[in-house]
Amino acid sequence: MIKKTILSTVIALSMLMTPAIARCSDDRVPFADKALEIFRTAVSLRTAKGHGQVPKLAQYLAREFKAGGFAEEDIHLLPMGDTAALVVRYRGDGSSGKKPILLSAHMDVVEALPKDWERDPFTLIEEDGYFFGRGVSDDKQGVTALAISFLRLKAENFVPTRDLIIAFSGDEETGMGTTKTLIRDFRGLIDAEFVLVADAGGGDLAEDGSAKAYFLQVGEKIPVNYEMTVSNPGGHSSLPRKDNAIYDLADALKKIQAFKFPLQSNQLTRRSLKAASEFETGDIAKAMRRYAEDPYDPWAKDILSNASSHMSSYISTTCVATMLSAGHAANALAQSATATVNCRIFPGEAMDATLDALKKAIDNDTIQWRASHHSEAIAASPLRDDVSKALRKAVDTLYPGTKIIPFMAPYGTEGNRYREAGMPAYGIDGVFMGVNSFAHGENERIPVKGFYDNLQYWYVLLTELSG
Ligand SMILES: [Zn+2]
Repeated sequence: MIKKTILSTVIALSMLMTPAIARCSDDRVPFADKALEIFRTAVSLRTAKGHGQVPKLAQYLAREFKAGGFAEEDIHLLPMGDTAALVVRYRGDGSSGKKPILLSAHMDVVEALPKDWERDPFTLIEEDGYFFGRGVSDDKQGVTALAISFLRLKAENFVPTRDLIIAFSGDEETGMGTTKTLIRDFRGLIDAEFVLVADAGGGDLAEDGSAKAYFLQVGEKIPVNYEMTVSNPGGHSSLPRKDNAIYDLADALKKIQAFKFPLQSNQLTRRSLKAASEFETGDIAKAMRRYAEDPYDPWAKDILSNASSHMSSYISTTCVATMLSAGHAANALAQSATATVNCRIFPGEAMDATLDALKKAIDNDTIQWRASHHSEAIAASPLRDDVSKALRKAVDTLYPGTKIIPFMAPYGTEGNRYREAGMPAYGIDGVFMGVNSFAHGENERIPVKGFYDNLQYWYVLLTELSG
């Protein structure tokens, strides 16, 4: 009896622990050929700033939507300077009585110089199980997945219970002007209950190809640059004075280096720490769990804020000096010394509070501060049952039972432009990968399997939310 119990427990446990192996493979995904064609064309157009290729990509996609059965009046190609946005509405029957869902991705890419790359960045190349090319990860796979979802659903005569709207922007990497214009001047075209962003979110794979976790992006830090300047009357360098712009600035910078912003303890950080603790070991894992239970636990706080990993970047505001300039001659005392401090402000925290904390840590009233811009505090988006449920199903289609972890991104996407405008946004793309994508870098890549799986993932996600 005991033996049997132990054995059945072991079997049950081992079944639980069997890694989730992907069910979906590319040869079974409908519209795979069309997806590859769109992906290849998108990558071949150098949509980095200054090349004027975004409108070409938008025109090409608009033609595809038209050929796929979308009415001309539902396809809006919006030229904006030398770039463009594309908005496509998939009309539903309105039976759910709900506002539309907006689907966001960006057509532009970070510049890539062919001479720096091993392979031509503007030719889609498949090699060793990866697609290589500028934008394959960020974000032309997202553009392709959303476009294919619309084309496939239309071909299947799917009628959503609410409108679905695609908004492809044209300068996400360089200012997000098109997104801001869409929100300000074309709100009627894109107004939605919430936004699904194909430029963030995704799954992590272990080395054996099993899924470790899926990460849902629900908030973003706000990047702000502060220029801090120390001024001084200066003078001849042969007669040093007690106050000195360079030394005073250096003292201030050392204080910033030593200063740690308090760890945040909102529901989001506690939940994600708890969920992510199982991927860590030792004191870190223990501290993550204890902090999730009790954010006042001094031992846990100490371990987490001093962890050598990037842990604190995910649970607190960070500021770091990134640029420096001072002096005007080698034989003169500097009249001014300026440093740029790049801050990543935690969702919901006000800019003023960040600056106040820095000033207090430095304690030098003579420093002049200049912020690169003003931003209101932008809170993370609340978790929604409908999105969570659809996400669960979409993730299970690929890697059943994978843990879903909501998280806050230390980098920025269009999500925050929509959150700022009152539309909750979720970075919810479905690419799973176990290696660095080198997005923004050389030899950007995406697993071939991840690319095709993502098509099916979005199909399930959208039919769940609007079927
Ligand atoms: Zn992106």
